Formats: sequence, structure tokens, C-alpha cells
Amino acid sequence: MTLKRIGVLGLQGGVAEHRAALGYLGATSAIVRDPGDLVGLDGLVIPGGESTAISRLAVDLGMLAPVRSAIAKGLPTLGTCAGMILLAREVLDGRRDQQQFGGINMTVRRNAFGRQVDSFEADVSIPVLGEQPFRAVSIRAPWVEKIASGVEVLGRLGTGSIPEPFGSGTSADASGGRIVAVRQDSVVATSFHPELTHDFRIHELLLKMIG
Ligand code: GLN
Repeated sequence: MTLKRIGVLGLQGGVAEHRAALGYLGATSAIVRDPGDLVGLDGLVIPGGESTAISRLAVDLGMLAPVRSAIAKGLPTLGTCAGMILLAREVLDGRRDQQQFGGINMTVRRNAFGRQVDSFEADVSIPVLGEQPFRAVSIRAPWVEKIASGVEVLGRLGTGSIPEPFGSGTSADASGGRIVAVRQDSVVATSFHPELTHDFRIHELLLKMIG
């Protein structure tokens, strides 16, 4: 088996933690800062941070189109938190000039859980990862407001598990759960930070999608 080489978009945000997770799983990683860095990658991680800052830097550094096209061509990709926002087709409550790479046919609401709960942790059931729930560390997290065909819901945060009053509203399902993990083809996104736990099953999922 050849070693998988994963790029971590290194414009802003939690780059080192993702590299540590990938290293723990036996993959090599490289920081991606300019278009040439995309060459020869088996997969890509778009970390959390601040989506508006990552968007601005991507535009300034000529990375918007190259990353967009690498994902569109099928490069297996994981986006976490701000990374989820950058993988969306449409962003609500974003800055007007904020751009996305796309990759998942979804609408994401930025800072959706509101100011009162800037940060929280909750258990999310993610059946593709097995029975044990995933501890979702959420920091000014988005949620997925809408998905279109081709997008698979991997996990929802149930009402009981998140602070009030965020359990109700239009995008919640009958049980009040918000979509916080999705997949379309070989692109996965979580609204939370799997790199901040010692549970690396989400990163493992990315490596499995590479095959
Ligand atoms: N709220 C941030 C944004 O809009 C995302 C926060 C995060 O990545 N932890 O980009």
C-alpha cells in the first residue's frame, strides 16, 4: 500500500491539528498554499477557522479556481466548520463578497447556533462511522439549512443535545435535529471540529474514500 498524501489548505485556521490527525492514521500531509501544491495529492482537507478570511486569501493568492476545479474533478475532500462553509453551493449570513469552492450541493448557514453558544460539545450519531456517537466540538458552527439531490445526511444534532433555543426552526427535522455532517460523492463536511478530539473516524472516512 502506498502512503496517502493529503493536502491541508493552509491559508488560515486549524491546520496543524488536521495534520496531526492524518499523521496518526499513517497518512502524509502537506500544506497547500499555492496552486502548485495541489499537484499529486490524494485528498484535501479544508480546516476550520474563518470562512471570510479563507475566502479572501484564496482570491488574493489565486487559489479559488484551482481548488474549485480540483474538487470538481473528484479530489476526495473533507471540510470542517469554516471548511464546510467553503464547500457549500450557497451560504446564508455570509459576507456579501465571500466566495466558496463548492463541492456539496447544499445551503449552509454561517454562525447558525448563535452568539450565546459560541462553543459547545454534543454527541452526534453518525451511523457510517459505527454505533459509537461522535463528540462534536462546535465553535461558532454553521449548520446545513438545505440539501439537494445527491447529498447524504451523515449526522444531525438533536434538540435535546444542544443548548436552547436552537432546537427549533425551519430546517430542523421532526425531532428538531440540525444537519451537521454530510457527504456528496467523495466530499465530506462537518460543522464541528473532528481534529480537536482524539476520535479520528472522520479523517479515516476521508482516507477510506480515497481507497
Ligand atoms: N464562524 C466561522 C466562519 O464563518 C467558522 C468557525 C469555525 O471554523 N470554527 O467561518
